[in-house]
Amino acid sequence: MAQQDSDQQDSVEFIVDTEDCEERETAHRERGTSRPITVVGNPVLHKECKDVTEFDDSLAQLIDDMFASQRTAEGVGLAANQIGVDLKVFVYDCLDDEGVRHVGAVCNPVLDDLPAERRVLDDSNEGCLSVPGAYAELARPDYAVVRGQNAKGEPIAVQGTGYFARCLQHETDHLYGYLYIDRLSKRDRKDALRQMAEREPRYPVVAND
Ligand SMILES: [Zn+2]
Repeated sequence: MAQQDSDQQDSVEFIVDTEDCEERETAHRERGTSRPITVVGNPVLHKECKDVTEFDDSLAQLIDDMFASQRTAEGVGLAANQIGVDLKVFVYDCLDDEGVRHVGAVCNPVLDDLPAERRVLDDSNEGCLSVPGAYAELARPDYAVVRGQNAKGEPIAVQGTGYFARCLQHETDHLYGYLYIDRLSKRDRKDALRQMAEREPRYPVVAND
């Protein structure tokens, strides 16, 4: 991931994603259709997704379907390739460590590189709808900024702290072909896959060939 130059970084204000969360999330998922979730091993999860270039009705429909799918699977974030679509889009409905709810969608996300003094690592538990039933501790910075575009193609920036920062990093990783288990030690990864094998997913998933 390339770092944007600082002029560009200063040009976009952070969006407000904490207002009317219930209304916005409900409207999306009521227009959408829930789709089954792809799981680790499905090729669509293990390669970089294509950039969004058309900000049209079919993108809006995809985002609605993603909100519907996220709700069915009781997730706090969902990337398009988790419903089998090869496009750089993620949605989220996530609480931060202060209990504030954030709802939104980001196309073509790029994470800011954090200055060293802002890199405070937090090693909370992490899970993923595409690795159903598994959890593992993973150290990640407790602050994140993601830049991209909204559903209309307008530039946006989203900032998050705590668990929401983790969500922004996790979802951006998805769109570049990485699952959180790819960031674990060999042993922890194996343990996560064992947890997954031992539990039945509580939502519809796409069977791997
Ligand atoms: Zn995930």
